[in-house]
Order: sequence, then C-alpha cells, then structure tokens
Amino acid sequence: NTTLEEEDKEIYDLVQREKWRQYSCLELIASENFTSQAVMEANGSALTNKYSEGLPGARYYGGNEYVDQIENLCRKRALEAFHLTPEQWGVNVQPYSGSTANFSALTALLAPHDRIMGLDLPSGGHLTHGYATAKKKVSSSAIYFESLPYQVDMKTGFIDYDKLEQNAALYRPKLIICGASAYARDWDYARLRKIADQHSAYLMADIAHISGLVAAQEANNPFEFCDVVTTTTHKTLRGPRAGLIFFRRAPKGEKNSDLEDRVNFAVFPSNQGGPHNNTIAAIAVALKQAAGPEFKQYARQVKANAIALAEALKSKGYKIVTDGTENHLVLWDLRPNALTGSKMEKICDYVNITLNKNAVHGDSSALVPGGVRLGTPALTSRGFKEADFEKVADFLDRAAKIAINVQKTTGKLIKDFVVALESNEDVKALRGEVE
Ligand code: PLP
Repeated sequence: NTTLEEEDKEIYDLVQREKWRQYSCLELIASENFTSQAVMEANGSALTNKYSEGLPGARYYGGNEYVDQIENLCRKRALEAFHLTPEQWGVNVQPYSGSTANFSALTALLAPHDRIMGLDLPSGGHLTHGYATAKKKVSSSAIYFESLPYQVDMKTGFIDYDKLEQNAALYRPKLIICGASAYARDWDYARLRKIADQHSAYLMADIAHISGLVAAQEANNPFEFCDVVTTTTHKTLRGPRAGLIFFRRAPKGEKNSDLEDRVNFAVFPSNQGGPHNNTIAAIAVALKQAAGPEFKQYARQVKANAIALAEALKSKGYKIVTDGTENHLVLWDLRPNALTGSKMEKICDYVNITLNKNAVHGDSSALVPGGVRLGTPALTSRGFKEADFEKVADFLDRAAKIAINVQKTTGKLIKDFVVALESNEDVKALRGEVE
C-alpha cells in the first residue's frame, strides 16, 4: 500500500502543481467550485472498487449491503436538500455527469426524432439542450431528436418568452428545456409551464449552474412547475463531478406516473453501466452540507458577490449583459472595448485570473466570442466578500486595459498578442499582485 507520491511521482507532482494553480489563481469560472475535504475523501474511498449495476435492493452483483445504504442515503438527502417529499418526487443519483443526466432524461421522456426546444448555445444555453449549427448537429440531443432552440432578446439579453411561445405554437415540441450555462437572470417557470401545457409538452429544468442557489431557496423554484429537473453536483452545489435526475411522481394512470421507471431505465441499462459508488457517497456528503444553515449563507454571499462584481465593472464603464445579475454569474460584453473574449481569457491566464471566453448574444461569429463569463461560487467558498470582489474588478479592469494597449501594437491576431504578453512588464506586475 504505497502512497501516490511513492508509486507515481510524475502524476503526484502534476496533481500538486494543479492544486497550487487552483489556490494561487483567482478562480472565476462560473461552473467551478472548491469542494470540501470530506467530499474528496468520500470520492477517493474504497467505494471505487465496487460494481453495483441496478438500484438499491435490486442489483446485478453481490456484496452491495453498504453500497445500497449509501445510495439510499444519497437519494433521501437529495430530496431533503431541495425541500421535496418522497411522495411527490423521486431522484436517480447515478448519472456520471450533467451531460449524461440530460441525455438520460431525454431518453426517458422522448422517442427518437421527437421535438425539443432549449435555450440556444449562443444565448447562454448548454450543448445538451439540442445544440446544432447551420452546418452540423453538434450534440447527440440534436442528432437523435429534432431541435428548435429559443433565444434571448437581442436588445435586452433577457429570454424572449413571447417569441418562444410563438415558435412553440408552430413547432409543437414534446419537451421544453429551461436552464443555462451563461444566463445571469432567473427563470419564469410558471410562464414556461403554461407554454408547455399548450402543447402537452414536458417541461424539464436543467439547474446545473444554479442548483446550490435553488437548494438554498435563493432562486425561483423549478420543482413547482417542472416534470423533470436535472443538475450537475459540482458547480454551486459544491459536490463531486456528477449529475442527478429528479422526476415528479403521480398516481397510477395519470401523467408522470411512469416517470420513475422510465428515468431509472434510461440511466441503466440504456445509457450507463455500473454507478460510481464513490461519487454517490461524495454527493451524499455534499447534499448534507447543502441542507445546512451555513450553505444558505454561502448561497446568499455568492449572489451578493456577483452583484458587487457586476456593479464594480459597470462603475468602470464596462457593459454587462442584461445590465446585472440575479445569480452567481456575470456576463461581460467586451465588444464595446474592441476586445474579444479569447484575448481577455488569454491575458487573464497570464495574470493568474481564471475565467472563460463566452458568446454574447448578437456575436457576429460563434468562433469569436464577444465576452467572458465570470462566476463567484469558487472564490466565495474561499471566503471572499463584496469588498474582495471590488478588488477583483480592479484587477480585471487593469487586465482589460493592458490587453487593449497590447492589441494596439500587435493588431488583431491572437498569436501575436500572446507573444507580446509574454514580455510585457505590466502583465508581470499584475501577475505578481494577483498572486
Ligand atoms: N447542463 C448545464 C446547464 C451545464 O452548464 C453543464 C456543464 O457545464 C452541463 C449540463 C454538463 O455537465 P457535465 O460537464 O458534468 O457533463
């Protein structure tokens, strides 16, 4: 039983370096977080050795006495964390990730080529909500199902529910998906339910980004209106990397009465094999944490920090999509500064600020994203408050200004821009300060 360091120094060193990168950078990726020691301990436990295809009490392998208890505890905690009763909702905790959770949900709800409507990727939606370009069906959710995305209003950046309703009347979808990866506003689930009901369509919410806020009751409640709710467990929820699928229960013979069997069958055997029991134990730990009072305080701070960041950037004259935020993220439109999201991401990498380029509605090309996405969950886990995020905004402002100056000398090509960053004294100074 040698340690990782003794067994494989190469991997050990790389893990240590990644750990240092995570802790020495300002981590602003909206989909990332710092999970707890307890979660990581469960995730790295002996449970990784076990096969347990099937569900608790009905496995295809022996030796599942403890694994069954762990999965049952995880299911119970998932319902408790989201304030649900086992009479009204059930949950499958086996999806390996958010993408597989979504594809299993589609498999459960739809037949091949059924029609779906999800938020378009350039409007902030996720690939798995039916993403296709004009030339290619990109996501399997667009390959195996027919997809007509809806968009945000090109002027305001808010979801255009009227247009969605008009298009749904023409397209008559079987499923409407709400949820996003880069949308800073909350959702009108009641309106979406009304639109879905006009076509007897299912309504599914993918709350991957905001599930921590939903659990803390710091966001609108999708469970009031949706048939199915999916989420990842590693973003605002602060657990290990995985997914969950919640399904509504109904009395026999009524709509949704068969969802439990369909969802469970879609996960296994349709789309997955043996569940990752180590991950399920780690989800259970994270859900216990998410149900506590400290987590509510955390979720509140995540939102307060996002507002502080947006306001600080606005006060420096920058353009924020929808002019603000109601959740954990801020979408920063850099087009008025003649800067691309790619260049901003690059310079931030050089100065130890981690963020990602992001499409902004109305971008002339999907290949040149016009903005960056900033999230507060990770740094809030490290104890950052509003004043700290004002400082973060100062650093971002300085990075943007350096990038604009460097661009004046290098022109538009990103490779010339990167070469110039390497020897730039302002970049070095800013990196030193951030670290
Ligand atoms: N759904 C949404 C809204 C997401 O933002 C993401 C990931 O970014 C996913 C699903 C996919 O999750 P995963 O990367 O775990 O497959």
